[in-house]
Amino acid sequence: MTAVTKFWPILTATHRYDKSISTYKRGAGQMIEAPILAYLIETTNGRILYDVGCDYRKINDTSQREKYYNAALGFGAPQMDEAQRLSNQLARLGLSPKDIDVVFLGHLHFDHAGGLCDFCGAEVHVQADEVAHANSKDDVAYFEDEIVAQANWRLKQGEYDLATGVRAITSPGHTAGHMSLWIEMPTGAPIILAGDAADLTENIVDEVAPGNCWQDKTELAVESIRKLKTLAVAEKATLWPNHDMAFWQRMAAK
Ligand SMILES: [Zn+2]
Repeated sequence: MTAVTKFWPILTATHRYDKSISTYKRGAGQMIEAPILAYLIETTNGRILYDVGCDYRKINDTSQREKYYNAALGFGAPQMDEAQRLSNQLARLGLSPKDIDVVFLGHLHFDHAGGLCDFCGAEVHVQADEVAHANSKDDVAYFEDEIVAQANWRLKQGEYDLATGVRAITSPGHTAGHMSLWIEMPTGAPIILAGDAADLTENIVDEVAPGNCWQDKTELAVESIRKLKTLAVAEKATLWPNHDMAFWQRMAAK
């Protein structure tokens, strides 16, 4: 049985960057266009959002853009228009940010947690290890103002069920407390959202670590990819990479 009634992947922005950011020591000098996604899961117990994309203001306000997306980052700002802002996309589904009960953050990088400012009412789930890593300041993809734990943050440790059929799966490596999400669909194969444990299909097929890993723990990242693949095979689930434009376009066309 599953409590899941509906599932929507949502394109919140696109980001052009060097492919070696997604695949460790592969594709340097090759630019790719990556989707930045959020996923809405409706259950009989409430609505869950996996990730919330970027902070719209940091991209579209000139002074904030200069402050946050500067040369030191190694990549520029994503492309995100007003219509892609998650609150506006929810409105098109007849929903508002108030209708989201839980925001589940796979990790705290800017393209996953930045949009949190639009969901101040929701309960936020994030791993304690992830918050500790983000606060260690050894990774420029965390934006300081986005990782300050609020009263509505629930710091989690390890795997647990968010609802019947929705399970948080540990997949560390890219970051210390990275989480993937298992979703038992009402019909058809279960979906495993890899998150940034696997940006591209290539990460999954070739078992290649993401380009940037916590304390360079690429082996841990590869272990997580293998864990997700094994789970997908055993349970006949579909494993979704997170920043793969071709994969996203195929899913969006369905
Ligand atoms: Zn990331």
